[in-house]
Amino acid sequence: MDTSTPPPSRLPAGASACVEVDLDAIRSNVGELRRRVGNAEVMAVVKADAYGHGLVPAAKAALDGGAGWLGVAQLDEALQVRAAGIEAPLLAWLYVPGADLAAAVRADVDVSISALWALDEVRQAAAEAGRTARVHLKVDTGLARNGARGEDWQVLVDAAADGESEEAIDVVGVWSHFVYADEPKHPTVRAQHERFEDAMRVAERAGLRPTHRHIANSAATLTNPAVHYDLVRPGLAVYGLSPVPQLGGPAAYGLREAMRVTSALANVKRVPAGQGVSYGHVYVTDRETVLGLVPMGYADGIPRNATNVGPVLVDGRPGRVSGRVCMDQFVVDLGPTYAGAAGDPVVLFGSEAAGEPTAQDWASACETISYEIVTRMGARLPRVFSDTDTPAGGGQ
Ligand SMILES: *Cc1c(COP(=O)(O)O)cnc(C)c1O
Repeated sequence: MDTSTPPPSRLPAGASACVEVDLDAIRSNVGELRRRVGNAEVMAVVKADAYGHGLVPAAKAALDGGAGWLGVAQLDEALQVRAAGIEAPLLAWLYVPGADLAAAVRADVDVSISALWALDEVRQAAAEAGRTARVHLKVDTGLARNGARGEDWQVLVDAAADGESEEAIDVVGVWSHFVYADEPKHPTVRAQHERFEDAMRVAERAGLRPTHRHIANSAATLTNPAVHYDLVRPGLAVYGLSPVPQLGGPAAYGLREAMRVTSALANVKRVPAGQGVSYGHVYVTDRETVLGLVPMGYADGIPRNATNVGPVLVDGRPGRVSGRVCMDQFVVDLGPTYAGAAGDPVVLFGSEAAGEPTAQDWASACETISYEIVTRMGARLPRVFSDTDTPAGGGQ
């Protein structure tokens, strides 16, 4: 059993697992999204390290693919994009009082405003930076997360109109976010659409003329052309995953998964029937069999509740996490006839078209969403970028 096989090609030297990112897939996904939205622009959402795909390389690929904008949650994420020399329009939408908004304004980052305190701080930041701040006013149309609602919206747009007349701010956008975009027929979708229209009428009456109205995330971008407006904000779809798995997988929407997570077996051994496996012995072999050890665990982002259910491909054969997922490792029952050895390649998830388990399969097995699977892949896993321009393993 110890006839050594060469390690799988894409693992960086010395690494026991990695996240492969196909930048060409990101480019092509954005191209497909652009095609679907006609005249609207595409803001590729690259928050959370581009959903785990690597902020700067993913942002560049999205722009190459035709995104006109980038979107992030945090100001620091926006500053990292700027520090990489990326000059595309860029919106950041989540911060707390005392945030360094002046740095954002100086870096030409558009900021979202949901409340009067934020408007006050942005006006101050504009004064400090000595320039007009570009802002997007957020209206709460029903998600009850960020954004101003009811009377507060009227107050906010009036105050913003004052800010515009003093040239402290320029209201570039009015925007909102859906509750149930992933269920296109849900009644909240129509209700929010109507409230968004109302909110824009209120803004217009206050004298605001935002050029960018936006409310569509990936699901709304793919399923609801009536809400594309001037700009759509897809995140998940940029990375080739379906936001509406119950309606169709990536291929149904012309998308291709950009992330592939691979490893190699760290140990292979034969055990008898009745052997309990890993902490708590929650898996017990029902026959003599061969166990393989995968050197990835919950510290790498493998959900602990993938215990006994997470799907893998070991040397091209389907298998499943067998026993508890540990901090750094988990075991797979490879079956009695497995004839491989340590070093055999393991794919956790990747491309459905290539017959690999997918992030969506992991999400279904772990009762979560594919968003969580890709974004939780940990900092310990090196990102290996591939590209048609820089083939196989050309990192950056
Ligand atoms: C994350 C996020 C998006 C992107 O959502 P997807 O479902 O990944 O397309 C868009 N808008 C806001 C406000 C977000 O927080």
